[in-house]
Amino acid sequence: MKAVVLEERASHGVSLRDMPDPVIPDGWTKVRMLAASINRVDLYMRDSGVGITHELPLIMGVDGVGEIAEAPQGTDLTPGDHVILYPYEFCGTCRHCLAGDQPLCRFARILGEHRHGTFAEYVAMPVRSLVKLKTGSRLDQAAVLGVAYLTAWRMIFGKVPVSPGRIVLIQGAGGGVSYAAMQLARIAGARVIVTTTGEKKLAHFHALGTEVIDYRNNDVPKAVFSLTEGEGVDLVVDNIGEQTWGASLRSLARGGSLVTCGATTGAHPSAEIQRLFVRQLSVHGSTMGNMEEFRQLVSTWQAGGFVPLIDSIFSLGEVPAALARLNDPSRMGKILIRIA
Ligand SMILES: [Zn+2]
Repeated sequence: MKAVVLEERASHGVSLRDMPDPVIPDGWTKVRMLAASINRVDLYMRDSGVGITHELPLIMGVDGVGEIAEAPQGTDLTPGDHVILYPYEFCGTCRHCLAGDQPLCRFARILGEHRHGTFAEYVAMPVRSLVKLKTGSRLDQAAVLGVAYLTAWRMIFGKVPVSPGRIVLIQGAGGGVSYAAMQLARIAGARVIVTTTGEKKLAHFHALGTEVIDYRNNDVPKAVFSLTEGEGVDLVVDNIGEQTWGASLRSLARGGSLVTCGATTGAHPSAEIQRLFVRQLSVHGSTMGNMEEFRQLVSTWQAGGFVPLIDSIFSLGEVPAALARLNDPSRMGKILIRIA
């Protein structure tokens, strides 16, 4: 089969080549991939991969949508069914799995990180990591939900659930996860303020009716306090890291929370401990979500709760260009990889 393989740590280390079809263990299923998306972690794997147990060559790609090519006996799956892939393979029987915390499973393996991923014609998956889609589902949209939207779901509805009337600040709202968080915070009934820059993005968010701060021409905390009558926001979603961390903490209302799932610009900002305790702030880390959250996300999307924003579409052979697009300042939303 054709697959996008990471052979070595470099932008030229990624190529489309032939790989053996996956071996399908008992009780697993063979999925013929239809589409997937680019995530920040793909760049991390390409350039570093430190801290993630894996071997090269590795098929890249963490999320995606496909159709059942071979279904095991005794399941409700039949060949041709459309399924969305939960990005984790998990055991289903350990104490974390039984408690519904699949990401904590000690046998958990993430596609495209610990094991072969989704930028391939075929993927082997345990049936329990698949969610069947309704007939007629928009597969391009489904393909981008697995990582970015699942991560955003837990950030908005997880540890510090956003509720109607809360004020949420989304830093760098053009990014895949941040844009998803903006959409989900709006569903939750929150008042949403975003930071972004560039004429096209500013116009986009104005047209959506969110409050927008151009971070290039404004002091963000000052702008936040002026918009909120000196109150500040209840929650900041910040995946940018070092560059925005201080401004994010300074934008919080007393008792507010910052939630992060990324550190694109660096991982070691000042902790501002005094600000944390004086204003009684909390900081939460978040990564993807559990199977129940994944099902909730998929059904909210299927019910028309939100429409994922797709920035651009590339073919399997164009993954290197798609990875480059991730760092293009004009990008907004998710980059789709069409496989079949
Ligand atoms: Zn487990």
